[in-house]
Amino acid sequence: RRPAAAPADGEDRVTDAALRPKDLDGFIGQERVREQLDLVLRAARRRGAAADHVLLAGAPGLGKTTLAMIIAAEMEAPLRVTSGPAIQHPGDLAAVLASLTGGEVLFLDEIHRMSRPAEEMLYLAMEDFRVDIVGGTGLDATALSLDLPPFTLVGATVRSGLLLPPLRDRFGFTAHMEFYDPAELERVVHRSARLLEVEIDPPGAAEIAGRSRGTPRIANRLLRRVRDYAQVTADGVVTRRIAAAALRVYEVDGRGLDRLDRAVLHALLKLFDGGPVGLSTLAVAVGEERETVAEVAEPFLVREGLLARTPRGRIATPAAWAHFGLAPPPEPPR
Ligand code: ATP
Repeated sequence: RRPAAAPADGEDRVTDAALRPKDLDGFIGQERVREQLDLVLRAARRRGAAADHVLLAGAPGLGKTTLAMIIAAEMEAPLRVTSGPAIQHPGDLAAVLASLTGGEVLFLDEIHRMSRPAEEMLYLAMEDFRVDIVGGTGLDATALSLDLPPFTLVGATVRSGLLLPPLRDRFGFTAHMEFYDPAELERVVHRSARLLEVEIDPPGAAEIAGRSRGTPRIANRLLRRVRDYAQVTADGVVTRRIAAAALRVYEVDGRGLDRLDRAVLHALLKLFDGGPVGLSTLAVAVGEERETVAEVAEPFLVREGLLARTPRGRIATPAAWAHFGLAPPPEPPR
């Protein structure tokens, strides 16, 4: 099962790309990150130099790829895109680095998933713009040192804490991206609706924003599903009533919980009296893999204050009982 904020595929991927803001001014929210990044880029432009390396840390779908593209556009530099999982051998990285042109922006998504030897090669490249390539083995081994043109590395990771300090310290600037508040997501929805030529009224946009888990990618996805519903069942105009009806069809509730989230909470409340219950038991109860429950459903449920992880297992919070309109069981007599 894909996380709710997983990148889109098929037709949605095409619209995802079309909906990306192209410059910092068009990038909604993340005020602090925008301001900091604006300074870094403007200073570099004034010096006529490549910008410092930038680390973008934040949950999936908050706009890291979009920001990397904006950095390249603002620097009027080409962008090269790769990812940690694609770089397992140092040779993979050497090939990418050796082909960079001066000032180019290299976007390395999921940088924490690069192999250690490749990571060590990256240290030298980031700091001294150099790679040492070792050919052959044993006594026949030869080392070739290659100078690189100055480039800007933009690394992306879900949490900066996943990076070892030597790598983290080599970034000149780390942008910590936060979840978006509902007002910002409303602006995202209005902007995307304009680009998709969907007519939407403010309450309709608010309805979608409120169910988007603080994540622009989800807001865009829900907007597309609501658009489909509005085109098929109504005159195409998205109102609060249409948005709510459409999202009911797609099983996204008023708080943004989807079918899996609700199944997990429901099992926790109804089968285990609110817990504590172990992750494996809970996963079996909803017929999903342990990892799916832990990585797809739980982060959002924890953030929403509906579920807590304790040493004895998962427990439902009072807010979870209230969300389902249920009363928590009475405290056992002492
Ligand atoms: P992942 O790490 O999962 O690849 P990401 O953080 O790189 O996710 P993006 O692909 O950049 O996320 O953004 C997802 C979608 O959300 C894009 O289609 C983009 O249009 C939209 N989006 C992201 N941030 C913003 C923003 N600040 N303003 C408007 N749209 C945004």
